[in-house]
Amino acid sequence: MTAKSTNPAYTRPAVPSGPENDLASVIASARELLLWEQSLGAQGFPVPEPTVPQPGSASTSAPSETLEDCQARLQVLADEAATCVRCDLSKGRNKSVFARGTPDTDLVFVGEGPGYHEDQEGRPFVGRAGTLLDRMIAAMGYPLDGVYICNVVKCRPPENRTPLPSEAVACAHFLVPQLELVQPKVIVALGRCAAENLECVPPAGPWRGVWGEWRGVPVMPTYHPAFLLRSPQFKKPVWEDLQAVLGVLNREVPKRAR
Ligand code: URA
Repeated sequence: MTAKSTNPAYTRPAVPSGPENDLASVIASARELLLWEQSLGAQGFPVPEPTVPQPGSASTSAPSETLEDCQARLQVLADEAATCVRCDLSKGRNKSVFARGTPDTDLVFVGEGPGYHEDQEGRPFVGRAGTLLDRMIAAMGYPLDGVYICNVVKCRPPENRTPLPSEAVACAHFLVPQLELVQPKVIVALGRCAAENLECVPPAGPWRGVWGEWRGVPVMPTYHPAFLLRSPQFKKPVWEDLQAVLGVLNREVPKRAR
């Protein structure tokens, strides 16, 4: 619909001038214009079709987000993490460690924080614990680059100690948008630190293998692969946790891993 104020068939109604009448004047003009358009057969202003979100698709929360948009936003966050000084972990940093794998996945693993090898390479889980994690991922039937892997903190804590609560809070500046952008269907929290920071540790009783939730996403807290290297007898319950994850994702447990 175009403005017709110059058309002689359209006459603007007279409204007394003055600041208190400005709005009344505009409304009266608009009303008159619509009535005039209607008399010519116009149906009114076009109303856009409502968009119906499809269940189970990324469009439910971010209709215009493409994989490229998502990767670009993650890269902005990764670049910011590389120069971040929000906490003292930055002082000992060689390289920040943002993530590895693909954001185009239904499954995210969250660990604690980078160790020596990760700090050297700038990639999470590249040491011995990482090799074990890769075997766990393969046993679940995923290609190694078919999941997304990140940590609670992006810089190595001194002596590989557990991140302080203040460091984890500072680094939530990265973890929260990271998880929101990837939008996994399930998160596996590797170790108590990750489970605590995703607020999935019950106040009392067992925490491993007990489903929690982070902003609506199911979280399976399980033992950290570094712990399994020291205590391999706990591999069995971890494998049970990972099978429960496959169940929620409606994925078959691969035959060779049964
Ligand atoms: N342990 C972690 O929690 N994260 C890593 O990236 C490596 C070891």
